[in-house]
Amino acid sequence: MQKIVQKFGGTSVGTIDKIKHVCSLINKEIKSGNQVAVVSSAMSGETNKLVSLAENFDINKNKLEFDMIVSTGEQVSIALISMALKEIGLKGVPLLGWQVPITGSNDFTKAKIDNIDDSLVVDLMSKGKIPIIAGFQGINTKNNIVTFGRGGSDTSAVAIAAAIRADRCDIYTDVDGIYTSDPRIVKNARKLNKISYEEMLEFASLGAKVLQTRSVEMAMRHEVIVQVLSSQTGEKGTFLTKEDKKMENELVSGIAYSKDEANITLINILDKPGVATKIFSPLSEANINVDMIVQTGSENGKNINFTYTVSRKDLEQTISIMEENKTDIEFERIITNNSLAKVSIVGLGMRTHTGVANKMFSSLASESINIHVISTSEIKISVLVDEEYIEKALNALHSTFKLDKK
Ligand code: ASP
Ligand code: MG
Repeated sequence: MQKIVQKFGGTSVGTIDKIKHVCSLINKEIKSGNQVAVVSSAMSGETNKLVSLAENFDINKNKLEFDMIVSTGEQVSIALISMALKEIGLKGVPLLGWQVPITGSNDFTKAKIDNIDDSLVVDLMSKGKIPIIAGFQGINTKNNIVTFGRGGSDTSAVAIAAAIRADRCDIYTDVDGIYTSDPRIVKNARKLNKISYEEMLEFASLGAKVLQTRSVEMAMRHEVIVQVLSSQTGEKGTFLTKEDKKMENELVSGIAYSKDEANITLINILDKPGVATKIFSPLSEANINVDMIVQTGSENGKNINFTYTVSRKDLEQTISIMEENKTDIEFERIITNNSLAKVSIVGLGMRTHTGVANKMFSSLASESINIHVISTSEIKISVLVDEEYIEKALNALHSTFKLDKK
């Protein structure tokens, strides 16, 4: 007997027929002698509808109400799953966050999961019942409903799996696993059987929207074995696991991209202590996330340039913040570019192998792709290129690092 958490995403429970289909996936686990806890998202599109309803009012003044509204999508899907399970002779028990209870921090719209009381869930499972838990929501210490950020059901599922010490957390979605690159762009992309938590964290934060980044962090912290698989086929997907020795041999395990990049360059700044903080403090006060940062050197203590990237939606606000602080930062001009993409190679092998960066640069050079900005971390190298080159860059890198289908 194994304890399994099955999490179903919005598209997997998008219609009554699909709900009936996921019940057959639940039934399969039960029939093979396992205990199951289910975590579900709202039916696809429902959370977006709820968000737009709430957005008729100022969300900043109504965060409590916002969470109360957007958390209702899951209330519907878990009750429907429970009804459908009954039809095939299984006993489901739909549970909202507060009934478990799943306790979250007080940060409405992006609460962290502080604690999960596993007793009810474990008790139900041991009696052959199937707890069907609403993802995305919990309750804070003041008994208010809080939500865990968009895509938060993934994090709910992994947290439940950690709390009940599940043998596996299966995340059913509309793709059949994690690929070496986006299969819509790279025809030769391959599905990975396994990926380390660290690598997946890089992919998730680079915008591969399969899993909420926080769920990967949570899985890594508690060493939860997560499988990403398709609810349509139910076939074996990609496993997220601790790194093992063999993984280190893979130089690069995947190539990701994000189109959400905007670039700002401040020209001719006087080079003196405190410049960087003058640029970035007002941005952090405005909650604008800065990603890549490059400062050019100076010859005579003058005239440095600063380049950094922000998310495209933040570009306009960033420009006006820079203009407001122009005399304080003392720059001459500002240049911006809104049509850039970030292309990244990710792999554990980079820790131990040299020459990976140069291999990447020469691959891009042979395609005549110009690199605007470069940044690196222990297991990732990212470059900023013109958006029009995404397809060329991904395909070139994919074959350079021998990721193509055999
Ligand atoms: N229903 C929520 C959303 O759409 C949570 C989730 O699906 O994971 O973001
Ligand atoms: Mg999701």
